Formats: sequence, C-alpha cells, structure tokens
Amino acid sequence: MNKINKYERVYVNLTWVFILLAFIQMVIRDNFLVNAKIITLNGICSICTVIFLIAILMFNLCKIYLLKKDMFYNRPMYNLLRLLEISYILASVIIFGFQQWVYILLVFPVLIITLEMGKGKVRYFLVYSLISAVVFQGLKIYSSGGIGIGGIYFYFSTIVFLHAILFIFSELCGKIHEDNYESQQQNKMLLSELTDRYKQLEDAQKEIKNQNEKLRDTNLKMEDTNRKLTESLAELYTVQQISEVINSIFDIEKLLQNVNDIIIGVMGVKYSTILMYDENKNIFKIHTTNIIDQKELMIINDNINCKILLDSLNSGKPVIENFVDPEEYPFVKNRGINSLICIPLITTPKKFDKTQNATETKKMGLVLIEHKLANAFDNNNLRLMNLIGKQVGIALENAALYERMNEIATFDNLTKIYNRLSFQKKLEEEFEAARKNNYSLSLAIFDIDHFKKFNDTYGHLFGDKVLKHIAAVIKNSLRSGEIFARFGGEEFIILFPKTDIETAAETVEELREKLEKTTIRDELVSASVTVSFGISCYPHFASSESELIKTADDALYRAKEAGRNCVKLACREKSEVL
Ligand code: GH3
Ligand code: MG
Ligand code: MG
Repeated sequence: MNKINKYERVYVNLTWVFILLAFIQMVIRDNFLVNAKIITLNGICSICTVIFLIAILMFNLCKIYLLKKDMFYNRPMYNLLRLLEISYILASVIIFGFQQWVYILLVFPVLIITLEMGKGKVRYFLVYSLISAVVFQGLKIYSSGGIGIGGIYFYFSTIVFLHAILFIFSELCGKIHEDNYESQQQNKMLLSELTDRYKQLEDAQKEIKNQNEKLRDTNLKMEDTNRKLTESLAELYTVQQISEVINSIFDIEKLLQNVNDIIIGVMGVKYSTILMYDENKNIFKIHTTNIIDQKELMIINDNINCKILLDSLNSGKPVIENFVDPEEYPFVKNRGINSLICIPLITTPKKFDKTQNATETKKMGLVLIEHKLANAFDNNNLRLMNLIGKQVGIALENAALYERMNEIATFDNLTKIYNRLSFQKKLEEEFEAARKNNYSLSLAIFDIDHFKKFNDTYGHLFGDKVLKHIAAVIKNSLRSGEIFARFGGEEFIILFPKTDIETAAETVEELREKLEKTTIRDELVSASVTVSFGISCYPHFASSESELIKTADDALYRAKEAGRNCVKLACREKSEVL
C-alpha cells in the first residue's frame, strides 16, 4: 500500500497544479480574452467557476486528510472519490468551459485506478466516465439550444475518441499492474519463505542457546561438585590425620602440639593457639601456640579471658569473625589480626551412659586461629574447624581417661605412692641396671607395728589416715631416684639404687626415728605409731629380685621378733642376724 499511497500523493500534488493552472486560465480568460472580445463566455459565470475550483480544492484537502488517517482505501469511500474525480474533470471541460486539454487529467485517475485495482475495475470507471461525459455534453447542448449535427458529431466523437485512448492506456497500465502484482506475489512468497527460514534459524539459535545454557549449567554443577569433592577430600584427609594423631598419642602435650601443627598446615593461617580452660578459676591458659613473639604472647595472655571467648566456650558455639574489632576482641589489639575463628573444645554428652548425667558436657578449652588478612575465612573453614574441634575434644577426653587409668594402674589409691605392681616393674628395671653396671641395689621393707590393735583402738578411718601420713612423710624424706611403694596392707617398700646396705640402713634408721616422733591427729584423736624395717642388698645378700625381697622380708620378720620399732639387715647365713 505504501507505494500506491506515494502515487496517490503525487496525484494530489498534481491536482494542486491543476487548480492553480485553472485559476490562471480563468483570470486570463476573464480579464484579457473576454475583455478584448477574443472569446465570449457561454453564459457560465466566473463566480460559478471559482466555487467549482474551491470545491475541487476542498475535495483535495479531504483526500489528504483521508490518506493521512488511512481511511482512503475504504472501498465505498474510494469508489465515491474516484467517481467524483472523474466527474469534476469532465464537468470542468464540458460544463465550466475549461479547455479540452484538461481531459488529459483523466489519465491520472485511470492510471492510478489501474495500478491499484487492475484493468478489470478501471473499465467500470471508464464506462461511468463515458456515460457522464455524454450526459454532461448532451445537457450542455440541450441547455444552449442545439448546435447542429456537425457540432454534435464533433463533441461526441471527441468523447468517444478520448475514452478509446483511455481504454488503450488502461489496458497498457493493466499489463504493468499484472506484472507488478505477479512480482509482488513472488516477493511476498519469497518474503514469507525467508520469514519462515529466519524463524527456523531463530528457533535453531534459541535451541543452541538453550543447549549452551544447559551445558553451562551442567559444567557449573560439575565444577561445584568437583570443588565440593576436593574440599571434602581435604577435610577427610585432615580429619583422618588428626584421628591418626589422636589414636597414636596419649600424651596431651604432644597431642595438642601435633593438632596445632596440623591446623596451621591445613588452614594456612598465621597463628593457631590452643587454650585450656581452668574450670575452678574460670580462666583460659595458653597451652600450645605457634606465636613466638614475646610481645604478642603477652597481649594474648593479658586479654585472653575476654567475654566473647568465655561465652563461646559456655554456649559451645564457634565464633567466625572476618573483620575483627579490637574492642570486642581485646587479645588482637596491636597485633594486626583481621580475621579469626574460635572453636570451643567440649566433650559431647554421652546419650547412652546411664551412670553419668546424660546432658553433662566438659569444657576443656578453645582453638583460636587468627589471620592477618581480613575476610580470610568462610563457612567451609568453620565447618572443618568444627570437625577438628570435635576430634580434639574427643582426644582430650581420651587422654584424660588414659591418664586416669594409668594413674589407677600405677599408684595406690589411698596413699598416692606406687602400688605393688608398678614397684615390681621398677624393681626389674633397677635390678637389671644394677646387674649390668655392677652396682649395689638396696631394698627396705617396713611394716607398721601392732596396726591391727591400732585400728581396733582408733578405728579403720583413722588407720587410713595414718597410712597416708606415713606414706607422705617417707615420700618427702626420700631422694630422687629412690623408689617408694605400698607393698601390701600396712607394709611399704623402698628401693635405693646405687646404695650399699650400710648406707641404706642409715637412711632407714633416720626414717624410723622420724616416724616414731611423728604424731598423727584428727579432731578427736592424737596418736603415733612405730614401724619395723628389714633391709637387704644386691649383690651381697641376694642374686635375684625375688631373693632381694625375700631376704628383706626375712630381716623384717626378725625385726618384729626382736621387739619391733627397729631395723634389721639381711644376712647370708640363716642364723646370721645383724
Ligand atoms: P605386727 O605387724 O606388729 O605383727 O602386728 P599387726 O597388727 O600389724 O599385724 P597384722 O599383719 O596381723 O595386721 C595388719 C593389720 O593392718 C590388719 C589390718 O586391719 C590392718 N590393715 C591392713 N591394711 C589396712 C588398710 O588399708 N587400712 C587400715 N586402716 N588398716 C589396714
Ligand atoms: Mg603390722
Ligand atoms: Mg603386716
């Protein structure tokens, strides 16, 4: 339509030219030709011509308006306008006396109708034009009173000739229209085909884009899975390493040192510090750290018992801080620390342990890792540290348990000195050393005199107190390297490495005297006991460990026989008593 619209506009402009030319012609005719009597007016006044031209002008304006509003090609409107066009061209020549050349203007509507509607349609308009021209001419001849056969022939033959030419012209234009229409149809087909192809291409592109997005999503997912897998592996490796350390080391000192080293290695942090918690004093103490700078250590030591760390331990909740405020964390002041993680070391409650309070957790300390960089930690670090914290908590609990078991196995529960079993081991070691290095090893056994009676008199509990007291007195009097143990009920045993029997006897005599002078008291009772000693010595009086004990025990027996509260030495011959 656009193309046709363009023709239509050209036509409108040509109409303006026509109106202008018509005015000029009218002015020349009225002012010069009529006045000079060159021509005469056929009774049609100039006012009518002017009105007629104004009507064409209005018509043209109306056409412009309709074209603008896209209403021009409305079918009845179109037909009406065309008929009017043809009519006013015919009227301008036949009725208003314009010159014959104005007929040429008929070419334009014929041309445009043909181009727009094809040659079939234009025929109706030509027929209308022919009839209108004949009628107009007939009416004009009739109104002018007849002009003779010659005139009639002239006018009507002109009209017929004009329409014959217009018909031939319309046939020609029709051909052009057909060609044009055909190529337009082809173009349309081509365009629709192209549109289809373009749509297919667009669809294909969309599909490719979708596939690419899916591929990218899959890649991202795979990357994510890989990253998670790598992280999990790293975590697994770390936890495994820590588990190994935990299972292999029962010494708390060594264990925490190892754990601290692993944390520094795995997390790549600047500092890792393990703080132990003293429940009685409600304070932290640095147990293990890789901080060596004395100044920094002092800052930590002075500020470690801050609210935020104590709260973390009490609540069991870890702390992660990527932009550390020294006001909140006073132990980082002037140390250039910007990120930290703090993991409480607590034992988890044992759900199925009915002998203990099921909800009881033991607070053991904190792991504090620090970094100079801000925003150094993320939730993965926190998760890993939590895992490590749990492992270390278990490790500490195990180590404490192991220490306790070891203590029970090694020491006597009442007197806290070595028990018989651990003494036996020590004796083996010392005997082996003495034999190897060829030095003396003395052994003394002592037994409380009349202890049964003592118990009966003062009660068993006071008897226990006496046992503890005697053990403490002897333990504090012995030199390092001398081994002291509870051998049985109220019997004790002392091992003197690298000591001959005489020297041992002197020490033992001093001990006996000390004990004799000792008074044991409680709220009601005040009493003292005596003890009897028997001493023997390797290699002079015994050649084996059991013989050493046996000979010392024999000497003790003799001390009892001799009236108690004395020291007797072993002898080689049975009868020999010193
Ligand atoms: P002596 O050795 O002088 O011949 O007389 P004794 O009365 O000490 O002799 P005996 O060996 O028969 O008695 C040992 C007593 O030691 C018996 C027991 O009541 C007491 N005894 C053993 N172990 C303990 C203990 O752990 N606590 C208390 N209170 N008494 C104990
Ligand atoms: Mg006794
Ligand atoms: Mg006894």
